[in-house]
Amino acid sequence: MPRTVITGGAGFIGSHLCDHFLGLGHEVVCIDNLLTGSKDNIAHLEANPKFEFVFHDVTKYIEVEGAVDFILHFASPASPADFERLPIQIMKVGAHGTHNALGLAKAKKARFLLASTSEVYGDPEVNPQPESYLGRVNPIGIRGVYDEAKRFAEAITMAYRRVHHVDTRILRIFNTFGPRMQLDDGRALPNFISQALRGEPLTIYGDGSQTRSFGYVSDLVDGIHRLLHSDVWEPVNVGNPDEVTLLQVAKEVIELTGSKSELVYKPLPPGDPKVRRPDITRARDLLGWSPTVSRLVGFQRTIDDFRRRLPR
Ligand code: UDP
Repeated sequence: MPRTVITGGAGFIGSHLCDHFLGLGHEVVCIDNLLTGSKDNIAHLEANPKFEFVFHDVTKYIEVEGAVDFILHFASPASPADFERLPIQIMKVGAHGTHNALGLAKAKKARFLLASTSEVYGDPEVNPQPESYLGRVNPIGIRGVYDEAKRFAEAITMAYRRVHHVDTRILRIFNTFGPRMQLDDGRALPNFISQALRGEPLTIYGDGSQTRSFGYVSDLVDGIHRLLHSDVWEPVNVGNPDEVTLLQVAKEVIELTGSKSELVYKPLPPGDPKVRRPDITRARDLLGWSPTVSRLVGFQRTIDDFRRRLPR
């Protein structure tokens, strides 16, 4: 059975990947420094003899004994709130962390999958965004730390492919949500759900006319699985093209939670993309992938998870 290393394996997406690959019989080595991840996300796995948790910061040399078949590099803070709180950690994990993870892939002759992001497109002039769009990123803006770290990560991944012949995959993840997101992560959906369940006002940044396209985490995991087992080395967008305004999202969360919360308007953070929607032609054509969980079904599952976890 394959042995799979997941950096950021205690995070929101990483922990769902641990579940997925353990479910297929892989041995899973989860590496995380718990900066934004949590032991709660993997507590149910700790008794599993095929699961190993390694408390480690991947910006430092990564040591893994024994054979490794797959490396899924998911370690990074990823919420816009983190762009202001943890900018240097974000740049270090995108740069040194990705370098170390690629070094491990080279040493172990493992296939390497990079978790990249729709943020490589910045504040885009084209909507939807195909993989061929080269992006509009402000390197000195607040979001630049994340955008440039991930652009660097894609570049060094390609360099290791070209120079060291590491077998690489690049996944560009669009807004993804679901159970295990941090309650106070600062992103729109966790904020709205926590606020609605607490009866606090939902904070709309700007006038709420900006759009995002929200994909459910199980669909993302399916896309990751397909990409990993394909021979597609070019970047692939994975996300749900179901585009919606943030105002609409806030209203849906109020409706689904049955909350009496109102809306309050706050300033739009600088550089906040006005639109975002994946062009998923490549994922459809090359991976046979498309999303299956509708936004409202996903929202309801996430609300149920938040209800269970919110302190009473
Ligand atoms: N947003 C909002 N209220 C919040 C948090 C975010 O209106 O409490 C907006 C944010 O300005 C952005 C969108 O929601 O336009 C999505 O933000 P998120 O933090 O989820 O991630 P992003 O897609 O910007 O990376």
